[in-house]
Amino acid sequence: MTATEHLNLTDVTLAYGATEIVHNVSLTLQHGEIGCLLGPSGCGKSTLLRAIAGFEPVKSGTIKMLGRCLSSKAENVPTEKRNIGMVFQDIALFPHLSIADNISFGIRDWVKSEQSKRVAELLDLVGLPGVEARYPHSLSGGQQQRIALARAIAPKPDLLLLDEPFSGLDANLRETLVPEIRDILKHESMSAILVTHDQMEAFAMADKVAVMQQGVIQQWGTAFNIYHEPKTRFVADFIGLGEFLQATIKDEYSVDSALGCLIGDEPLKYAPGTPVELLIRPDDIQHAENSPLTGKIVSKWFRGSHYLYHVQLEHGEILPCITACHHDHNVGEDLGISIELDHLVVLPICDPETGVCDLQEAEVVQAQAINL
Ligand code: ADP
Repeated sequence: MTATEHLNLTDVTLAYGATEIVHNVSLTLQHGEIGCLLGPSGCGKSTLLRAIAGFEPVKSGTIKMLGRCLSSKAENVPTEKRNIGMVFQDIALFPHLSIADNISFGIRDWVKSEQSKRVAELLDLVGLPGVEARYPHSLSGGQQQRIALARAIAPKPDLLLLDEPFSGLDANLRETLVPEIRDILKHESMSAILVTHDQMEAFAMADKVAVMQQGVIQQWGTAFNIYHEPKTRFVADFIGLGEFLQATIKDEYSVDSALGCLIGDEPLKYAPGTPVELLIRPDDIQHAENSPLTGKIVSKWFRGSHYLYHVQLEHGEILPCITACHHDHNVGEDLGISIELDHLVVLPICDPETGVCDLQEAEVVQAQAINL
């Protein structure tokens, strides 16, 4: 463990009875980092969070914080001795207690003057100064969630766990609250783990994201990495929009595809002739009025600030393309496009029956800008 490592999970396997839910998960959170467990419902995010909190024992592996073993097969430090704070989806403030008493609940053994000081400091931090004497019902949902956060961080826990804390709030409120909460955690240098199934929330909040599928972490990296350099087909599919184009390895550095020959600047792991899939994101394809390359619009999706089109190339390949809203075209029209790939994501072809592909061979290749 290095000086800045805060939380280490090593080969953590979790089970309910005989059913294994989380398999051999390892990750390291640095001090002050916000990590996120992101994945579809039922993939084991909350189970993993509960194990970190001490509510579930590990079947095997270890959970360590600040160098101290919290969970192993032989050891399970009780929740109340872990110095971990928690915020849940159901805000669960105590309705009969004032805001001040709610926030100071975890520090009620502090001397009164210190409690009041900490409450005032936290109310300032969450942007609600002066509400000490009010009761939870008099605050909006977003304000209550800020108070729940203040309550959780009042005792200065070593780690904050947030389990889908924004999912009960409406979309507009989430958009403003998520970055605000991130700023608050950063101000407090709080190490935290957020569970969510919402990738925009993960992107707005987290320094590192673990994409989980069926109890396995498929990739642990920055939001930029998992979007632009997905290591597996599942991550590429789950994060962001995109289409896969059939391609064939041409030589050590290049692939052939319906978009021509694309050249990377790192060697490919596949032998020439190997069929692979090339990930194309909507932002890789730009609308270009007079381009010689065109595709027939097969779908159009208004997304507020832009349109997302899907266009079909001559031989049937489908590409996504984002345009500004004034480029209002109809399904069936030809759309001029240009390719603006600054790197290639090449993945092995999955077995269509099982969805299984050789994950070890997934490869991201930085490619040169392409001129068609
Ligand atoms: P997520 O948070 O990703 O939605 P969970 O960790 O809640 O997923 O659940 C993972 C799997 O474990 C699901 O199949 C769920 O039904 C199962 N599960 C969750 N809690 C229990 C429990 N207490 N007993 C048995 N199975 C459970």
